[in-house]
Amino acid sequence: MRDVIIIGSGPAGFTAAIYTARAGMNPLLIASSVESGGELMKTTEVENFPGFPDGLQGPELMANFQAQAERFGTEVLLDDVIEVDLKGDVKIVKTGAGQTFEAKTVILATGAAYRELGLPKEKELSGHGVSWCATCDGFFFRERTIAVVGGGDSAMEEANFLTRFASKVYLIHRRDTFKASKIMQDRALNNPKIEVVWNSEVAELLGEGKLTGVTLRDTVNGSTKNLELDGLFIAVGNDPRVWLVENQVELTAEKFIAVEGRSSKTSLPGVFAAGDVIDPTYRQAITAAASGCVAALDAEHYLSGH
Ligand code: NAP
Repeated sequence: MRDVIIIGSGPAGFTAAIYTARAGMNPLLIASSVESGGELMKTTEVENFPGFPDGLQGPELMANFQAQAERFGTEVLLDDVIEVDLKGDVKIVKTGAGQTFEAKTVILATGAAYRELGLPKEKELSGHGVSWCATCDGFFFRERTIAVVGGGDSAMEEANFLTRFASKVYLIHRRDTFKASKIMQDRALNNPKIEVVWNSEVAELLGEGKLTGVTLRDTVNGSTKNLELDGLFIAVGNDPRVWLVENQVELTAEKFIAVEGRSSKTSLPGVFAAGDVIDPTYRQAITAAASGCVAALDAEHYLSGH
Protein backbone atom coordinates (compact mmCIF):
# COMPACT_ATOMS: atom_id res chain seq x y z
CA MET A 1 0.00 0.00 0.00
CA ARG A 2 1.18 3.53 -0.83
CA ASP A 3 1.65 6.23 1.76
CA VAL A 4 0.18 8.83 -0.57
CA ILE A 5 -1.43 9.14 -3.97
CA ILE A 6 -1.66 12.60 -5.51
CA ILE A 7 -4.33 13.12 -8.15
CA GLY A 8 -3.50 16.03 -10.46
CA SER A 9 -0.35 17.39 -12.06
CA GLY A 10 -0.58 21.17 -11.85
CA PRO A 11 1.49 23.33 -9.48
CA ALA A 12 -0.48 22.03 -6.46
CA GLY A 13 -0.03 18.35 -7.32
CA PHE A 14 3.67 18.62 -8.12
CA THR A 15 4.46 20.74 -5.06
CA ALA A 16 2.68 18.15 -2.90
CA ALA A 17 4.82 15.53 -4.68
CA ILE A 18 8.10 17.39 -4.04
CA TYR A 19 7.31 17.72 -0.33
CA THR A 20 5.96 14.19 0.24
CA ALA A 21 8.84 12.69 -1.77
CA ARG A 22 11.39 14.56 0.33
CA ALA A 23 9.55 13.30 3.42
CA GLY A 24 10.17 9.72 2.24
CA MET A 25 6.53 8.99 1.40
CA ASN A 26 7.28 7.68 -2.16
CA PRO A 27 4.32 9.48 -3.76
CA LEU A 28 2.49 8.22 -6.80
CA LEU A 29 1.24 11.19 -8.80
CA ILE A 30 -1.49 10.38 -11.31
CA ALA A 31 -1.41 13.09 -13.97
CA SER A 32 -3.95 12.43 -16.73
CA SER A 33 -3.76 10.19 -19.76
CA VAL A 34 -3.34 13.15 -22.10
CA GLU A 35 -0.50 15.13 -20.58
CA SER A 36 1.10 16.07 -17.32
CA GLY A 37 1.18 19.69 -16.17
CA GLY A 38 -2.36 21.05 -15.83
CA GLU A 39 -3.59 24.45 -16.99
CA LEU A 40 -0.14 26.01 -17.30
CA MET A 41 0.50 23.72 -20.27
CA LYS A 42 -1.96 25.92 -22.17
CA THR A 43 -0.39 29.20 -21.21
CA THR A 44 2.46 31.13 -22.78
CA GLU A 45 4.79 33.38 -20.82
CA VAL A 46 4.55 33.15 -17.03
CA GLU A 47 5.89 36.45 -15.71
CA ASN A 48 4.77 36.38 -12.10
CA PHE A 49 6.10 33.11 -10.71
CA PRO A 50 8.72 34.19 -8.15
CA GLY A 51 12.27 33.06 -8.79
CA PHE A 52 12.14 33.56 -12.56
CA PRO A 53 12.85 37.28 -13.08
CA ASP A 54 12.86 36.96 -16.87
CA GLY A 55 9.69 34.83 -16.96
CA LEU A 56 9.42 31.44 -18.63
CA GLN A 57 6.93 29.47 -20.69
CA GLY A 58 4.15 27.63 -18.83
CA PRO A 59 5.13 24.17 -20.16
CA GLU A 60 8.78 24.81 -19.21
CA LEU A 61 7.76 25.74 -15.67
CA MET A 62 5.72 22.54 -15.37
CA ALA A 63 8.58 20.43 -16.76
CA ASN A 64 10.74 21.94 -14.00
CA PHE A 65 8.11 21.06 -11.37
CA GLN A 66 8.01 17.48 -12.63
CA ALA A 67 11.79 17.10 -12.80
CA GLN A 68 12.10 18.37 -9.24
CA ALA A 69 9.40 15.95 -8.00
CA GLU A 70 10.99 13.00 -9.84
CA ARG A 71 14.44 13.87 -8.53
CA PHE A 72 13.21 12.92 -5.05
CA GLY A 73 11.50 9.70 -6.17
CA THR A 74 7.97 10.71 -7.22
CA GLU A 75 6.42 8.17 -9.58
CA VAL A 76 4.38 9.93 -12.28
CA LEU A 77 1.64 7.95 -14.00
CA LEU A 78 -0.04 9.20 -17.19
CA ASP A 79 -3.52 7.81 -16.69
CA ASP A 80 -6.99 9.06 -15.78
CA VAL A 81 -8.42 8.39 -12.36
CA ILE A 82 -11.94 7.21 -13.05
CA GLU A 83 -13.14 6.12 -9.61
CA VAL A 84 -12.12 6.51 -5.99
CA ASP A 85 -13.33 5.13 -2.67
CA LEU A 86 -11.94 7.41 -0.01
CA LYS A 87 -14.16 6.66 2.99
CA GLY A 88 -12.20 3.87 4.69
CA ASP A 89 -8.72 3.85 6.21
CA VAL A 90 -7.47 2.30 2.98
CA LYS A 91 -8.14 4.64 0.06
CA ILE A 92 -8.84 2.98 -3.30
CA VAL A 93 -7.97 4.70 -6.58
CA LYS A 94 -8.89 3.17 -9.96
CA THR A 95 -7.60 4.33 -13.34
CA GLY A 96 -8.89 4.25 -16.89
CA ALA A 97 -6.19 1.79 -17.91
CA GLY A 98 -7.60 -0.69 -15.37
CA GLN A 99 -5.15 -0.35 -12.50
CA THR A 100 -6.26 -0.23 -8.86
CA PHE A 101 -4.08 1.39 -6.20
CA GLU A 102 -4.37 1.53 -2.43
CA ALA A 103 -3.05 4.31 -0.24
CA LYS A 104 -3.14 5.55 3.32
CA THR A 105 -3.65 9.15 2.20
CA VAL A 106 -4.85 10.89 -0.95
CA ILE A 107 -4.20 14.47 -2.05
CA LEU A 108 -6.80 15.81 -4.46
CA ALA A 109 -5.30 18.43 -6.78
CA THR A 110 -7.64 18.08 -9.74
CA GLY A 111 -7.79 21.78 -10.57
CA ALA A 112 -10.50 23.46 -12.57
CA ALA A 113 -11.88 22.93 -16.06
CA TYR A 114 -12.68 25.66 -18.58
CA ARG A 115 -16.22 26.98 -18.56
CA GLU A 116 -18.48 26.82 -21.60
CA LEU A 117 -20.90 29.54 -22.68
CA GLY A 118 -23.73 27.01 -22.75
CA LEU A 119 -24.84 27.85 -26.29
CA PRO A 120 -26.32 25.48 -28.86
CA LYS A 121 -23.65 24.31 -31.36
CA GLU A 122 -20.83 25.08 -28.90
CA LYS A 123 -19.72 21.44 -28.74
CA GLU A 124 -20.35 20.82 -32.44
CA LEU A 125 -18.17 23.80 -33.45
CA SER A 126 -15.44 23.05 -30.92
CA GLY A 127 -12.30 22.50 -33.01
CA HIS A 128 -14.10 24.03 -35.99
CA GLY A 129 -13.60 27.67 -35.15
CA VAL A 130 -14.47 27.54 -31.45
CA SER A 131 -11.58 27.01 -29.04
CA TRP A 132 -10.60 27.34 -25.38
CA CYS A 133 -6.84 27.36 -25.92
CA ALA A 134 -5.03 30.15 -27.76
CA THR A 135 -1.63 28.50 -27.42
CA CYS A 136 -3.00 25.27 -28.90
CA ASP A 137 -5.05 26.72 -31.77
CA GLY A 138 -3.89 30.30 -32.38
CA PHE A 139 -1.57 29.18 -35.15
CA PHE A 140 -4.56 28.16 -37.31
CA PHE A 141 -5.83 31.75 -37.46
CA ARG A 142 -3.02 33.56 -39.25
CA GLU A 143 -4.29 36.78 -40.88
CA ARG A 144 -7.85 35.91 -39.80
CA THR A 145 -10.46 37.80 -37.82
CA ILE A 146 -11.22 36.28 -34.47
CA ALA A 147 -12.77 37.16 -31.11
CA VAL A 148 -12.10 36.36 -27.49
CA VAL A 149 -14.95 36.28 -24.94
CA GLY A 150 -14.30 37.25 -21.32
CA GLY A 151 -13.05 40.06 -19.13
CA GLY A 152 -10.59 38.34 -16.80
CA ASP A 153 -6.82 37.81 -16.96
CA SER A 154 -7.23 34.76 -19.18
CA ALA A 155 -9.19 36.71 -21.81
CA MET A 156 -6.57 39.50 -21.82
CA GLU A 157 -3.74 37.00 -22.11
CA GLU A 158 -5.42 35.06 -24.91
CA ALA A 159 -6.34 38.21 -26.84
CA ASN A 160 -2.81 39.58 -26.66
CA PHE A 161 -1.27 36.28 -27.62
CA LEU A 162 -3.63 35.84 -30.57
CA THR A 163 -2.57 39.16 -32.11
CA ARG A 164 0.65 37.35 -33.08
CA PHE A 165 -1.41 35.44 -35.63
CA ALA A 166 -4.73 37.14 -36.30
CA SER A 167 -5.14 40.34 -38.27
CA LYS A 168 -7.90 41.49 -35.90
CA VAL A 169 -9.03 40.39 -32.45
CA TYR A 170 -12.35 41.50 -30.98
CA LEU A 171 -12.52 41.25 -27.21
CA ILE A 172 -16.14 40.70 -26.25
CA HIS A 173 -17.09 41.48 -22.65
CA ARG A 174 -20.50 41.56 -21.03
CA ARG A 175 -19.85 44.65 -18.89
CA ASP A 176 -18.16 48.04 -19.34
CA THR A 177 -15.17 47.31 -17.10
CA PHE A 178 -12.77 44.38 -17.06
CA LYS A 179 -12.20 42.08 -14.12
CA ALA A 180 -8.57 41.50 -15.16
CA SER A 181 -5.53 42.96 -13.36
CA LYS A 182 -4.49 46.43 -14.50
CA ILE A 183 -1.26 45.37 -16.20
CA MET A 184 -3.10 42.76 -18.29
CA GLN A 185 -5.92 45.17 -19.16
CA ASP A 186 -3.49 47.89 -20.22
CA ARG A 187 -1.69 45.52 -22.54
CA ALA A 188 -4.93 44.57 -24.26
CA LEU A 189 -6.26 48.13 -24.40
CA ASN A 190 -2.99 49.41 -25.91
CA ASN A 191 -2.75 46.67 -28.52
CA PRO A 192 -3.71 48.19 -31.90
CA LYS A 193 -5.02 44.85 -33.22
CA ILE A 194 -7.53 44.47 -30.34
CA GLU A 195 -10.93 46.11 -30.43
CA VAL A 196 -13.03 45.83 -27.28
CA VAL A 197 -16.73 45.19 -27.71
CA TRP A 198 -18.15 46.33 -24.37
CA ASN A 199 -21.52 45.40 -22.85
CA SER A 200 -22.00 42.47 -25.20
CA GLU A 201 -22.60 38.79 -24.88
CA VAL A 202 -22.53 36.03 -27.46
CA ALA A 203 -26.15 35.07 -28.04
CA GLU A 204 -25.64 32.60 -30.89
CA LEU A 205 -22.87 30.82 -32.73
CA LEU A 206 -23.29 31.01 -36.51
CA GLY A 207 -22.13 28.50 -39.11
CA GLU A 208 -22.76 24.91 -40.13
CA GLY A 209 -19.82 22.59 -39.47
CA LYS A 210 -17.53 25.63 -39.19
CA LEU A 211 -17.90 28.91 -37.31
CA THR A 212 -18.63 31.87 -39.57
CA GLY A 213 -19.59 34.42 -36.95
CA VAL A 214 -21.62 35.18 -33.84
CA THR A 215 -24.74 37.07 -32.93
CA LEU A 216 -23.98 39.59 -30.22
CA ARG A 217 -26.59 40.84 -27.76
CA ASP A 218 -26.14 44.27 -26.17
CA THR A 219 -26.44 43.70 -22.40
CA VAL A 220 -27.72 47.25 -21.83
CA ASN A 221 -30.47 47.65 -24.44
CA GLY A 222 -30.95 44.05 -25.65
CA SER A 223 -30.35 44.86 -29.32
CA THR A 224 -28.57 42.23 -31.45
CA LYS A 225 -26.11 42.34 -34.35
CA ASN A 226 -24.01 39.81 -36.22
CA LEU A 227 -20.22 39.80 -36.30
CA GLU A 228 -18.36 37.80 -38.95
CA LEU A 229 -15.52 35.75 -37.49
CA ASP A 230 -13.15 32.95 -38.41
CA GLY A 231 -12.59 31.94 -34.82
CA LEU A 232 -13.92 32.40 -31.31
CA PHE A 233 -11.83 31.80 -28.19
CA ILE A 234 -13.80 31.34 -24.99
CA ALA A 235 -12.04 32.51 -21.80
CA VAL A 236 -14.79 32.98 -19.24
CA GLY A 237 -13.26 31.23 -16.25
CA ASN A 238 -13.11 27.74 -14.82
CA ASP A 239 -15.12 25.42 -12.61
CA PRO A 240 -13.50 23.16 -10.01
CA ARG A 241 -13.16 19.53 -11.13
CA VAL A 242 -14.99 17.67 -8.37
CA TRP A 243 -17.01 14.97 -10.17
CA LEU A 244 -14.68 12.24 -8.95
CA VAL A 245 -15.34 12.96 -5.28
CA GLU A 246 -18.53 15.01 -5.08
CA ASN A 247 -20.49 12.24 -3.39
CA GLN A 248 -17.74 11.47 -0.90
CA VAL A 249 -16.22 14.70 0.40
CA GLU A 250 -18.05 17.80 1.50
CA LEU A 251 -18.24 20.63 -1.04
CA THR A 252 -18.77 24.35 -0.48
CA ALA A 253 -21.89 26.14 -1.73
CA GLU A 254 -19.88 27.12 -4.83
CA LYS A 255 -18.95 23.44 -5.41
CA PHE A 256 -15.29 23.65 -4.43
CA ILE A 257 -13.92 20.93 -2.13
CA ALA A 258 -14.43 22.19 1.43
CA VAL A 259 -11.32 22.27 3.62
CA GLU A 260 -10.90 23.00 7.30
CA GLY A 261 -9.64 26.56 7.92
CA ARG A 262 -6.26 27.23 6.35
CA SER A 263 -5.48 23.52 6.21
CA SER A 264 -6.03 21.09 3.34
CA LYS A 265 -8.12 18.68 5.42
CA THR A 266 -11.33 17.61 3.71
CA SER A 267 -14.35 16.11 5.49
CA LEU A 268 -12.71 12.64 5.23
CA PRO A 269 -9.72 11.65 7.40
CA GLY A 270 -6.60 11.04 5.32
CA VAL A 271 -7.97 12.94 2.32
CA PHE A 272 -6.49 16.33 1.56
CA ALA A 273 -7.15 18.85 -1.21
CA ALA A 274 -5.07 21.61 -2.75
CA GLY A 275 -4.94 24.12 -5.58
CA ASP A 276 -7.74 25.46 -7.78
CA VAL A 277 -10.15 22.73 -6.67
CA ILE A 278 -10.38 24.41 -3.23
CA ASP A 279 -9.81 28.02 -4.24
CA PRO A 280 -12.65 30.29 -5.41
CA THR A 281 -10.57 33.45 -5.01
CA TYR A 282 -6.86 33.57 -5.85
CA ARG A 283 -6.23 30.76 -8.37
CA GLN A 284 -2.62 31.61 -9.21
CA ALA A 285 0.18 29.14 -9.92
CA ILE A 286 2.00 30.33 -6.81
CA THR A 287 -1.03 30.02 -4.50
CA ALA A 288 -1.76 26.55 -5.90
CA ALA A 289 1.85 25.54 -5.28
CA ALA A 290 1.67 26.85 -1.72
CA SER A 291 -1.50 24.91 -1.06
CA GLY A 292 0.13 21.75 -2.43
CA CYS A 293 2.84 22.23 0.18
CA VAL A 294 0.18 22.56 2.91
CA ALA A 295 -1.49 19.33 1.74
CA ALA A 296 1.82 17.45 1.81
CA LEU A 297 2.57 18.62 5.35
CA ASP A 298 -0.96 17.72 6.48
CA ALA A 299 -0.67 14.24 4.92
CA GLU A 300 2.73 13.72 6.53
CA HIS A 301 1.34 14.78 9.91
CA TYR A 302 -1.68 12.46 9.51
CA LEU A 303 0.59 9.50 8.71
CA SER A 304 2.85 10.15 11.67
CA GLY A 305 -0.23 10.00 13.92
CA HIS A 306 -1.16 6.57 12.54
P1 NAP B 1 -12.14 34.91 -14.12
O1 NAP B 1 -11.14 35.80 -13.41
O2 NAP B 1 -13.16 34.21 -13.32
O3 NAP B 1 -12.86 35.82 -15.21
C1 NAP B 1 -13.89 35.30 -16.00
C2 NAP B 1 -14.40 36.41 -16.92
O4 NAP B 1 -15.33 35.84 -17.80
C3 NAP B 1 -15.08 37.55 -16.17
O5 NAP B 1 -14.75 38.78 -16.77
C4 NAP B 1 -16.55 37.22 -16.35
O6 NAP B 1 -17.39 38.35 -16.46
C5 NAP B 1 -16.57 36.53 -17.69
N1 NAP B 1 -17.66 35.53 -17.78
C6 NAP B 1 -17.95 34.53 -16.92
N2 NAP B 1 -18.98 33.79 -17.38
C7 NAP B 1 -19.35 34.35 -18.54
C8 NAP B 1 -20.35 34.05 -19.51
N3 NAP B 1 -21.18 33.01 -19.36
N4 NAP B 1 -20.45 34.86 -20.59
C9 NAP B 1 -19.61 35.91 -20.76
N5 NAP B 1 -18.64 36.24 -19.90
C10 NAP B 1 -18.51 35.47 -18.81
O7 NAP B 1 -11.40 33.77 -14.97
P2 NAP B 1 -9.99 33.78 -15.72
O8 NAP B 1 -9.78 35.01 -16.50
O9 NAP B 1 -9.94 32.46 -16.41
O10 NAP B 1 -8.95 33.75 -14.54
C11 NAP B 1 -8.99 32.70 -13.56
C12 NAP B 1 -7.90 32.95 -12.53
O11 NAP B 1 -6.62 32.74 -13.12
C13 NAP B 1 -7.91 34.38 -12.00
O12 NAP B 1 -7.62 34.34 -10.62
C14 NAP B 1 -6.81 35.05 -12.76
O13 NAP B 1 -6.21 36.11 -12.04
C15 NAP B 1 -5.83 33.91 -12.96
N6 NAP B 1 -5.01 34.15 -14.16
C16 NAP B 1 -3.88 34.88 -14.01
C17 NAP B 1 -3.08 35.15 -15.09
C18 NAP B 1 -1.84 35.96 -14.89
O14 NAP B 1 -1.63 36.48 -13.82
N7 NAP B 1 -0.99 36.09 -15.85
C19 NAP B 1 -3.44 34.72 -16.37
C20 NAP B 1 -4.64 33.99 -16.51
C21 NAP B 1 -5.41 33.72 -15.39
P3 NAP B 1 -17.60 39.37 -15.23
O15 NAP B 1 -16.37 40.23 -15.22
O16 NAP B 1 -18.83 40.10 -15.64
O17 NAP B 1 -17.76 38.52 -14.02
